[in-house]
Amino acid sequence: RQELLRSMVGQEDVTLDGKKIKLYCNIGSPEDVSAVLANDGQGVGLFRSEFLYLAASDYPDEEAQFQAYKKAAVDMKGKRVIVRTLDIGADKQVDYFDLNKEENPAMGLRAIRICLNRPEVFRTQLRALYRASAFGKIAIMFPMIASVWEVKECRRACQKVMDELSAEGIPFREDTELGIMIETPAAVFMAPELAKLVDFFSVGTNDLTQYTLACDRQCNDLGKFFDPHHPAVLRALKMAADAAHEAGIWIGICGELGADTALLPTFLAMGIDELSVSPTAVLPLRAAIRKSIAGTCDLELLKG
Ligand code: PEP
Ligand code: MG
Repeated sequence: RQELLRSMVGQEDVTLDGKKIKLYCNIGSPEDVSAVLANDGQGVGLFRSEFLYLAASDYPDEEAQFQAYKKAAVDMKGKRVIVRTLDIGADKQVDYFDLNKEENPAMGLRAIRICLNRPEVFRTQLRALYRASAFGKIAIMFPMIASVWEVKECRRACQKVMDELSAEGIPFREDTELGIMIETPAAVFMAPELAKLVDFFSVGTNDLTQYTLACDRQCNDLGKFFDPHHPAVLRALKMAADAAHEAGIWIGICGELGADTALLPTFLAMGIDELSVSPTAVLPLRAAIRKSIAGTCDLELLKG
């Protein structure tokens, strides 16, 4: 079996009937890039930037962040590296942010909400990301989006940072792709409008399951009620995929569901363009993709 998997290194991610799908990896620090390369991941679909903040005792400065993003971009040798902006709050607490204790942190001040409330924290991260964009193929992704205005504000923050860097004569890539995570039901409902504002979608199925089914992902007692295969979750995915394709942008999955081979035919039937999974899941998925016939896949699992 190990040998079969090794034989997948260097093979294309394509079904028997020619449908291509990108296999990217989720990473938590630039050091994880070696595992991406060892498993032949074709890019980084989710670089969780939280490690920079969780490991520190104070706000990580622009230079420290720049070095981390640059290292990932350089080590990936020009392949796409999608860095997700800060996603703390809820389950991931950082003392120096001095956030209020919340009764219901999953629904509280987290992720993009913190960044939009604290423009200086956001600006520092965006400056580091744009500076790193000159050294490889960085893409920027915003988590926990629920509203059109949030994306517009993110885009304005990016433009401001680009204007600053231009004025300072610091190189960056103006065509750096901007994407959003689809992980709230609101983002699914607003997907047609959101798709016009960004270059790609990536579905966070961990949170999308939590918010769609009103099931706390941290609660261990929910058992069968926390069901990422629930047709409501799969229908939400399909709605987002249709909206993305209608607008001519690509859509991936970076939540844990992406590595679930039982759902691969469903993802192929929806035309999902990218799956971002842990590095060790790349070769098994590639083997499954190369045995699939996209044209015969159906959406049976979306039926109630
Ligand atoms: C998700 O919600 O599915 C996701 C990929 O983000 P995280 O697990 O970091 O919240
Ligand atoms: Mg999430």
